[in-house]
Amino acid sequence: METQAASASAAVRMEDVVSLCARRGFIFQSGEIYGGINGFWDYGPLGVELKNNLKAFWWQRTTREREDVVGIDSAIITHPRTWEASGHVANFSDPMVDCRTCKRRFRADQLDQPCPEAPAQRQVTACDTTDPREFNLMLRTEIGASEDAASTAFLRAETCGSIFTSFRRVRETSRQKIPFGIAQIGKAFRNEINPRNFTFRSREFEQAEMEFFCHPDRTGEWFEHWKAERLRFHHDLGFDETNLRTRPHEANELAHYCSNAEDIEFLFPFGWQEIEGIHDRGTYDLTQHTEFAGKDLSVMDEESKERFVPAVVETSVGMDRTSLALLVAAYAEETLEGGDTRNVLRLSPIVAPIKVAVLPLSKKLGEPARRLAAELRKRWNVSYDEAGNIGRRYRRQDEVGTPYCVTWDFESEGDQKVTVRDRDAMSQERIGVDHLVGWLRERLEAHL
Ligand code: ATP
Repeated sequence: METQAASASAAVRMEDVVSLCARRGFIFQSGEIYGGINGFWDYGPLGVELKNNLKAFWWQRTTREREDVVGIDSAIITHPRTWEASGHVANFSDPMVDCRTCKRRFRADQLDQPCPEAPAQRQVTACDTTDPREFNLMLRTEIGASEDAASTAFLRAETCGSIFTSFRRVRETSRQKIPFGIAQIGKAFRNEINPRNFTFRSREFEQAEMEFFCHPDRTGEWFEHWKAERLRFHHDLGFDETNLRTRPHEANELAHYCSNAEDIEFLFPFGWQEIEGIHDRGTYDLTQHTEFAGKDLSVMDEESKERFVPAVVETSVGMDRTSLALLVAAYAEETLEGGDTRNVLRLSPIVAPIKVAVLPLSKKLGEPARRLAAELRKRWNVSYDEAGNIGRRYRRQDEVGTPYCVTWDFESEGDQKVTVRDRDAMSQERIGVDHLVGWLRERLEAHL
């Protein structure tokens, strides 16, 4: 069947993706019945499946499949000294300006929109801004009953802080030797001056970070190794050279302790933007924590008897930004033969929230169809839908990216066969019920 797809990610309209996410319960504003809260988002039943699948795939690739990476899950509030040692308390800030005309607040480096209140008769379109002031992005909280400097704590601005502070214990208990990595997925918080572009820049978000500890002379080769691994991960999710690229940091973008950094960028409707950073952080982190905690974090190379502070190659990817990139890349509106249109999410089966939908041709066939759905549910997230005509039910599944629909019809009881319909090709195949799990597994788990 001929289709006309609008698949290039840059051509997708953000408002269509945002509207689909709200309409089908992927992602919506947190506290929306109270008018929402800027920079915070809730994931609904389909969104949480999508993001969980993404996290599971990252965990699988980064820790389970490797002998040399172990995982942790640490507290969101870590010892406040962690953030003094890392430099966040002193330096984790963005330059902020206020517009005297529209009274809004911006990041000084993100003044790319015309001022909505600028008086047209004066032919001024830009904001009339104050001088930039540094604004610290750490979100603060108080611990315990008293509110004084000693009770101030921070919600972590990145998940890696506690990877560094627990380095020694994790290395000893997991009996890992340098080089090895520690991985973690978790929430991070930044009091972003201007949250925008849906979930792209939020104040609460999830990161998946891996810190790889190696000899300081070997960061170059590990950097290349991890860059290749991370690109393989994104390609297996379905991104390609039309919507994914790497961008080395310019010398003036690099943090003072970073000798090399590259971003992996995705082509969003609002331009090329970072979804992941790969950084050669040198020995900065463990040196700082050695000094601030007064604990020796160096290691001994058993062969050469050399004692050294390990250096770190970091990979840091946003789970929300990547989920958004997946939705944008997958979104298509197609005109079918005969003039019908359909919305389809061409999500990789790795992340598709629903893997299979079971649809009885008639409500009268509900019992055996439900039995089949229950069988498939032992393995995958399965949707069962008997409401409406079959064409409409296919469209509902297309719109949320379900790769396969299985139809139980009036012949199925007799010949023990079902019709499997492919989301992308819209082709249909008759398959024996006995072979169904194997058939689906071959296709759904091909890239795992
Ligand atoms: P940006 O320059 O866009 O603010 P960053 O360079 O500060 O990002 P990192 O500190 O390298 O980002 O964080 C690693 C990853 O965490 C980013 O690639 C992104 O995917 C995610 N991330 C960072 N800030 C946010 C945010 N405010 N909202 C959602 N995801 C974020």
